[in-house]
Amino acid sequence: MSAKIIDGKAIAERVRADVRKKAEAFAAKKGRRVGLAVILAGENPASKIYVRNKIKACEDAAIKSFSYELPAETPENKIIELVQALNEDKNIDGILVQLPLPEGVNEKRVLEHVAPHKDVDGFHAMNAGNLMLGNPCLAACTPQGCIELIRSAGVEIEGKNAVVVGRSNIVGKPMAMLLLQNNATVTVAHSRTQDLKSVTSRADILVAAVGIKEFITGDMIKSGAVVIDVGMNRHDGKLYGDVNFGEACEKASYITPVPGGVGPMTIAMLLSNTVAAAEKNA
Ligand code: NDP
Repeated sequence: MSAKIIDGKAIAERVRADVRKKAEAFAAKKGRRVGLAVILAGENPASKIYVRNKIKACEDAAIKSFSYELPAETPENKIIELVQALNEDKNIDGILVQLPLPEGVNEKRVLEHVAPHKDVDGFHAMNAGNLMLGNPCLAACTPQGCIELIRSAGVEIEGKNAVVVGRSNIVGKPMAMLLLQNNATVTVAHSRTQDLKSVTSRADILVAAVGIKEFITGDMIKSGAVVIDVGMNRHDGKLYGDVNFGEACEKASYITPVPGGVGPMTIAMLLSNTVAAAEKNA
């Protein structure tokens, strides 16, 4: 079998065009643009690139970005004070705190201070909890993007065996919750899972969010599976997924490439959450 490629870039473009229409309609109705505040603390080069891409994406989607670049030595309470001021700012609909924060800053504490209705990353405990309860919420962007990618391939999620490898709070766990909401039978695997291959080999839908280059090999994939590769692993200046793409293509029916799969969708869903937050809070 040679897998069909799910083109995340093209699908993200469609989402972004839709977001732009909504953002323009919001601006016409409310007399101000949808606003996203982006906080970058420190000098992490990868974070700088991510932030630059997010700001550019905002402009393309008719969303006004407010950028806050803080020195690495900014104390935690100053970052929290900024977050609190942005919580009160009527021109700001979404707040994004770029992770990782500099050493010594407690990320969990900072994120807890983002008002849940402006938490467009979906990291606040209130949003994570509401996702688990099946209540309306701002859900984490990357898992939302993965669901869109699966749907766009015309794959029915209901009733399928879905395996998520990885249980982080920002990818693995919310991914599992969204698959469950879509009526998949969900297994979450992690570093203590025994005989991982026998677990992944049962997956009709396999989501890899491990953070290890080409960790999922062809022999771990069920023939005809849909493979979603969340991984972004940099080696020698090149980006690799968590899936061995060449081997996986021989087994899967559909697969997302790296780059050009999940990555563009994460940004698209961030924009989508920002407009949704603006519409809801207005
Ligand atoms: P984390 O490091 O937070 O989590 C990794 C998970 O993988 C953990 O749950 C860990 O298990 C599990 N794991 C590690 N080793 C193994 C193993 N040998 N067998 C099975 N499971 C294992 O990573 P993230 O969830 O934040 O990110 C995962 C990947 O996705 C990274 O490459 C990251 O760069 C990428 N990413 C991509 C995004 C995008 O937009 N495309 C957005 C966010 C992340 P345990 O809990 O037991 O330690």
